[in-house]
Amino acid sequence: MAVRAELLRNIRTVEPYVPGEQPQEKVVKLNTNENPYPPAPGVEKALRDLDPADFRLYPDPASGELIKALAEEYKVGEDQVFAGVGSDDVLALCFLTFFNSDKPILFPDITYSFYKVWAQLYRIPYECPKLDENFRLVREDYYKENGGVIFPNPNAPTAIYEELDFVEDILRHNRDSIVIVDEAYIDFAGRSAVELIGKYDNLIVTQTFSKSRSMAGMRIGYAISNPELIKCLNDVKYSFNSYTMSRAALVCGAACVRDREYFKAGVRKIVETREWAKGELTKLGFVFTDSKANFLFARHPQYDANMIFETLKGEGIYVRHWNDGRIGQYLRITVGTREEMDRLFDCLKEKLGLEKSKQENKE
Ligand SMILES: *Cc1c(COP(=O)(O)O)cnc(C)c1O
Repeated sequence: MAVRAELLRNIRTVEPYVPGEQPQEKVVKLNTNENPYPPAPGVEKALRDLDPADFRLYPDPASGELIKALAEEYKVGEDQVFAGVGSDDVLALCFLTFFNSDKPILFPDITYSFYKVWAQLYRIPYECPKLDENFRLVREDYYKENGGVIFPNPNAPTAIYEELDFVEDILRHNRDSIVIVDEAYIDFAGRSAVELIGKYDNLIVTQTFSKSRSMAGMRIGYAISNPELIKCLNDVKYSFNSYTMSRAALVCGAACVRDREYFKAGVRKIVETREWAKGELTKLGFVFTDSKANFLFARHPQYDANMIFETLKGEGIYVRHWNDGRIGQYLRITVGTREEMDRLFDCLKEKLGLEKSKQENKE
């Protein structure tokens, strides 16, 4: 039975974010920027020590144990950290809390596609300044009056990192609006804007356990800011859903943060594989951005991106591709293990004859 138009008129409808494919069979999964390595060993222990009998009780609504671990790690007060169900949850709450102006918020035209979805969902006006021809943010575009600013650093899916002086320049030119820096990939990149928190009262930094901390499936994200803005976030959270974080997420998250050495070694491995993979891409004739994230953003001047995408998929190798204007010829390839990347490059060589074509180009 079709729902009548009179009824639909008063229903909030929205064009949703489309997540990357999550195939349930075993494949080489380089399509959603997950970490190929398991989380810190302490996470397994924390999970084993959980007593299912405690599941009858609600978790700590303040996420105390996790927030304490994060505050210690980032050397901020516990009242400067907010935790949520992945940074998507944290960012969605940030949009609801901080982007409450009639003026448009600003974010780049090529960026994390969820921003547009939240803006539409909450009916926040927005404008999308264009990245320049090298996919760089143009700082002057963010100097105009606005209702808030958000961008990822490194940006996604371009993988390009802007130095901290760029972030600071945006903060300085936006003293009267909230600037959210989405640092989902910062651990693979460089200095974090967390060090500017004490200097700019308009700054919110969000990070996630999904990439560098190997815990996408546990759904943990967080925001770091000054106590007043964190309180605003908490007030909205407690007006929406008090118990967002499960008992398992709280203890596993805290255990993960406490194992700093394991974390650093894991990030180092990914960065090494990434830099090696850049060399391999070059040998095969790809053109790509100077990635500072855990993924590569590459196109091949002679081969159609969709054709490469489908060929790889046919071989059980999943990467990400958007049929979308300026980035339509690019593939986003998550940095996997060295073995996974070998399979990717072997497949590109064999199935597409890339090495051969490169030889022919030289002649
Ligand atoms: C992956 C990602 C997120 C969200 O990750 P969660 O799994 O929800 O923590 C947010 N922003 C960007 C730019 C991302 O790439």
